[in-house]
Amino acid sequence: MTMKVNRVKDLEHAREILAPVLARGKDEEARSVRERVSDIIASIRSGKNAAVLDWARRLDGFSGGEKDLELSRDRAEAAWKALTPPLREALAYAAERIRATHERARQALTDLPAGPRGGMRWTPLDRVAVYVPGGTALYPSTVLMTATVARVAGVREISVLTPAGPEGIAPVVLAACHAASVDRIFPVGGVHGVAALAFGTETLPAVDAIVGPGNRYVAEAKRQLYGTIAIDMIAGPTEVVIVADGGAEASWVAADLLAQAEHDIQASAVLLTDSEALASAVSEELDRQLATLPREGIARASLERFGAILVFDTLDLALRVSDLLAPEHLELCVESPGDLAARVRNAGAIFLGSGVPEAAGDYCFGPSHVLPTNGTARFASPVGIETFMKRTSLVGDPRGGEAIPELDRILEVSEILARAEGLEGHARSAALRRRATP
Ligand code: NAD
Repeated sequence: MTMKVNRVKDLEHAREILAPVLARGKDEEARSVRERVSDIIASIRSGKNAAVLDWARRLDGFSGGEKDLELSRDRAEAAWKALTPPLREALAYAAERIRATHERARQALTDLPAGPRGGMRWTPLDRVAVYVPGGTALYPSTVLMTATVARVAGVREISVLTPAGPEGIAPVVLAACHAASVDRIFPVGGVHGVAALAFGTETLPAVDAIVGPGNRYVAEAKRQLYGTIAIDMIAGPTEVVIVADGGAEASWVAADLLAQAEHDIQASAVLLTDSEALASAVSEELDRQLATLPREGIARASLERFGAILVFDTLDLALRVSDLLAPEHLELCVESPGDLAARVRNAGAIFLGSGVPEAAGDYCFGPSHVLPTNGTARFASPVGIETFMKRTSLVGDPRGGEAIPELDRILEVSEILARAEGLEGHARSAALRRRATP
């Protein structure tokens, strides 16, 4: 049996069983990754195009020259036209749903107009690059789940960077670039690609933000370059927690756990339930479904290391454990998911009810699938409109100083506090206005 059923008494007991999941991604290899990434970043900063080409050839088997570091948009359009109609229509459908969801989010993001108590204004970023992973799998869905959102936010120039081997970028990824109206496409990825777009080279423009998932090297590069550029998050391996009651369908729950586990051997899939019968049925289903899954090896390795089935006396305790894990994806396969969802505090995305699996959220339901992982849903949010915008504070009043009530007192307080901080220049600046105010 790949996953055994654990009867759990309390939070502490759950914590013990889930220790490998809670410690995931914090291994001893981290230091060597940090050093390797910092070396590559330094080489790109000084070597620019030549260094990018060197790493791309060495790490990815890139076969082009300097002029191939950018692809024309015509290539993306040609790839789009060459798709089979069902795939083309599926990409168009997904792009439109994602666009519509984020259009609503954009409307909800309102400015606070400048007035006597100040204001706040949202402005889209000028240049954003979307990182599309390209090492071990193809992710056209990631193009849609990031670039489409950036477009709705109003970003002026959206580029995609993705690693390309000797065959170049996969046609389906190029086609997704067309579907998402991406402006520029760079067939470079990894640390060298991220660093090139952070600093700019002879060919690649420096951008304001780099957004999107990637492996540990890419995540570490984003972490080290944060400050030179904005980033969305530092992504870790993906995970799902399923909270299910006795009424859930075991074959569906098992399928959803496997859908997560097949991503990579670091992925985590955890079932929390109050039904021993469901737990046993899911455990059996997992073995049955694993036997015919094409990525069986990856899924099995992931479940063995970071999978778990926990049975509690109450769903209440299950929810507390879920909040402790703060999962990227949380499926609520229960009779009335709304009640439970209202009590969840930590999750990247909540899937309400059994009818919409995480797979639908991955591809086309609407909200972006780029979500906080590794427990960071305690404080972080999914990629969304705000990822591609910045907020500017507005101080003063558009009608001029006279319109501001208490202006004299505001200046007086500024003067007093400035002197308390030993900043006489500040105090004088405020005092001059006071004298000038009638
Ligand atoms: P990737 O593009 O992130 O990484 C591949 C690149 O890593 C290579 O091109 C290479 O340049 C670099 N690299 C590999 N080994 C290196 C080394 N030893 N030294 C320096 N650089 C090295 O693609 P990937 O590897 O397939 O990883 C994709 C990741 O993104 C997976 O973990 C996947 O689960 C995740 N992902 C997450 C989401 C999400 O929304 N959360 C979506 C899609 C993918």
